[in-house]
Amino acid sequence: MKPSPYISVIIPVYNEQDNIKPLLTKILPVTRKLGSYEVIFIDDGSTDFTLDSLKTASGWFPNLRVIKLAVNSGKTAAYNAGFKYSSGKIIITMDGDLQDNPEDIPKLIKKLEEGYDLVKGWKYNGKGIFSKTIASKFFNFLTSLIMGTEFHDMNCPMRAMTRDCMKNLRLHGGLYRFIPLIAKARGFSVTEIKIDNSPRFSGNSKYGFSRLSKGFFDLITVYFLIRFQEFPLHFFGLIGGILFMLGFLIDLFLVLNGLLITGVIGHFAMLLFGVLLMLMGVQFLGTGLIGELVISLNQNEPEKITAEVFWKNRTETEINHYTIQ
Ligand code: UDP
Ligand code: MG
Repeated sequence: MKPSPYISVIIPVYNEQDNIKPLLTKILPVTRKLGSYEVIFIDDGSTDFTLDSLKTASGWFPNLRVIKLAVNSGKTAAYNAGFKYSSGKIIITMDGDLQDNPEDIPKLIKKLEEGYDLVKGWKYNGKGIFSKTIASKFFNFLTSLIMGTEFHDMNCPMRAMTRDCMKNLRLHGGLYRFIPLIAKARGFSVTEIKIDNSPRFSGNSKYGFSRLSKGFFDLITVYFLIRFQEFPLHFFGLIGGILFMLGFLIDLFLVLNGLLITGVIGHFAMLLFGVLLMLMGVQFLGTGLIGELVISLNQNEPEKITAEVFWKNRTETEINHYTIQ
């Protein structure tokens, strides 16, 4: 049986074979002081020797768990697998490329224990590559403009949160970037503390400049989800309603004008425009209704993750294999 730890540290890794050992060496003195903990690595379908490095490490690092995703599925899927498998009361997330300093973990926990639901790091002394720093600054600016938040770096991977907060995130797609925002929108208290920043230790960043455009689409998604996730018809219905009414009024005016004053319905271009607006309005309404249908169909759909779980604890010598479904 797996003992229930107080703290679960969740680390997604994709092709980080050379970072595993140095990372765990840095984590060990920290976890030693934590008391009851587990460190969960999610190997996100790595094609290098990441899994082997992890299996070797499970021989000397206590309470190490490894989840192997069958294929590279992205950070959200990796987090979801880790969240689902974890059992700690406090959930810590960090990256596996040594850009996060494990010594910040106790600081995050201390702040969380002051009564917050989520504490995020803020890498205030950005030492990243110039293009990335600019991209991230622009992204943060755009996010705060659209969402009206006060966070400095939205996508800082070092976070501590309560189990309840983690369970309510319900992430998909690229939404891991907005974890603090989503938590806040769901009513959890979120705060930020300054933490260290270091350059990547080994290997390459898995995200290029293209993340800016992806990030932008994710921003639209998160805006939509936070405002209208449970009520898509409120969003589409409003647009549809306005368009329909506009078209209706234009055509009503033209028809009345034609019947009562001029005797003919002129302004054909305008008349068609009115019809077009009404059609668009109906389309938007229909889209909203389909959205409602999707939500109601998804209500009880359990989340499926295809993964294998290995772990080795102090008393067990074999590595166990499990499948999370
Ligand atoms: N990562 C992952 N799956 C992916 C891409 C990245 O699990 O598809 C992991 C990666 O191994 C690292 C973390 O997510 O531990 C952050 O990735 P990276 O350092 O490439 O991102 P950056 O620091 O450049 O934002
Ligand atoms: Mg990194």
